[in-house]
Amino acid sequence: MGAEVAPDHGHVAVVGGGICGLATAHRLVRAGARVTLLEGSDQLGGLGTFFPWRDRWVERFYHCVMPTDDHLLGLLDELGLRDSITWRRTRMGMVVDGRDFPFNTALDLLRFTPLGVVDRLRFGAVSVLLRRLGRGKDLDGTRTEDWLRGLYGDRVWELLLAPLFGAKFGARFGDVPALYLWQRLGREGAVAVRGYPDGGYRTVIDALRASIEAGGGEVRLDAPVRRIGVGDGVRLELPGGEVVSADRAVSTLPLPQLRQLADDDLAARLPDVRLPYQGVVNALFFLRRPLSGHYWTPVVRSGTDFDGLIQMTPLAGVEPYYGRHLVYAMRYTDRESALFQEDDTAIAARWTAQLLTLHPALDAADVEEVRVFKAPFVEPVYPLGYLARRPPVVVAGTPLLLATTAHVYPDVTSWNSSVGLAQRVVATLEGAPQPVPG
Ligand SMILES: Cc1cc2nc3c(=O)[nH]c(=O)nc-3n(C[C@H](O)[C@H](O)[C@H](O)COP(=O)(O)OP(=O)(O)OC[C@H]3O[C@@H](n4cnc5c(N)ncnc54)[C@H](O)[C@@H]3O)c2cc1C
Repeated sequence: MGAEVAPDHGHVAVVGGGICGLATAHRLVRAGARVTLLEGSDQLGGLGTFFPWRDRWVERFYHCVMPTDDHLLGLLDELGLRDSITWRRTRMGMVVDGRDFPFNTALDLLRFTPLGVVDRLRFGAVSVLLRRLGRGKDLDGTRTEDWLRGLYGDRVWELLLAPLFGAKFGARFGDVPALYLWQRLGREGAVAVRGYPDGGYRTVIDALRASIEAGGGEVRLDAPVRRIGVGDGVRLELPGGEVVSADRAVSTLPLPQLRQLADDDLAARLPDVRLPYQGVVNALFFLRRPLSGHYWTPVVRSGTDFDGLIQMTPLAGVEPYYGRHLVYAMRYTDRESALFQEDDTAIAARWTAQLLTLHPALDAADVEEVRVFKAPFVEPVYPLGYLARRPPVVVAGTPLLLATTAHVYPDVTSWNSSVGLAQRVVATLEGAPQPVPG
């Protein structure tokens, strides 16, 4: 760890108890700071949070660790949890027009009939070279659609790539900087090995809380910050007229949420970066039998509202779930969309019917239970040229620092990038010179 935080850093408040807030608080406590972490809900973990199922805990949203997640693996080392990750080789499928294709090897590609033979060969050759083809290019200033259409051709773009990646960013995907995709391929690329913590993500969250509290930090649940003001210090208003004063604060809230809490003076100082955010609707099916054995399966042009399936069995097995096969179906969408606003029960019923149509071998009786979870702010839809527009970590002229998904670009939004960002924020508080990220 770095040197002790200088005494004049005093009391630091951390707003938000997702992985970014937890990692920030953990590192600050270890560096000797007095820390209060304020989490608005009754649970820590944010997007990585979980719900009780029988006598166990299950994540609301699918999560896995990649072997390239160096920041996260470093944190797990500090917590003594690195060995709790079980690594497994996983495979990918691809459903197109209702047909399920394996999509892992060169042979799989040769048999991938939704594309003609020439396009299959081109797809394979370009995909192998894609990372290399992007090197030295201004991908931050290049639309993804322009880059991929140019390399793969119109047919591959329209038949496969637009629906495939559009699943993540909706209609705006083509406009997102190609750098985002390039980085994503660097993280996930041809990697087939994925990890999952024994006991689920709750193990990591509990260990972080224990570490913060053991170091004298305070972790408060049900403590939603309603108003933030800055001056010599930071003033955080909680319900019931309670005020928490700190010398400095780190906010991990998505920028639109922070903007709503800021008093007039702070609002005027916040970076003028107004990004649309992508949310997610996600249904979790508890099945009595497996689907296909693929961990990740994009679902393209198959009449479903969801555009991807994640099957947990290849990653975590069935033991944690009393023999049930867990399948997450997801659709990334704007929080104002009709789907996001729709009632959970209606979504559960329709998506179940769609899953059964997609997998005729599955019987209604095989679907034991369905849960629907939504998140309004998963990540920003980054605009072209965002590298130069990324907001700084310090809100100029204030003792407030920001650590949000708007700051991790071009890294992929993940626990890994949040932990890396937490490290950067703590180093800034310690006054260490900052490497330029990205
Ligand atoms: C469907 C899905 C799948 C994903 N898959 C993966 C994966 O496989 N691997 C991976 O590494 N990452 C994955 N991610 C991404 C990962 O979950 C996020 O990048 C990460 O959790 C972001 O952490 P955070 O702390 O920045 O934000 P959040 O987790 O959003 O935490 C913010 C916290 O702030 C709290 N809060 C909000 N308002 C207030 C307030 N006023 N006062 C106090 N607290 C407040 C919230 O309750 C929340 O706990 C996935 C995300 C989703 C949605």
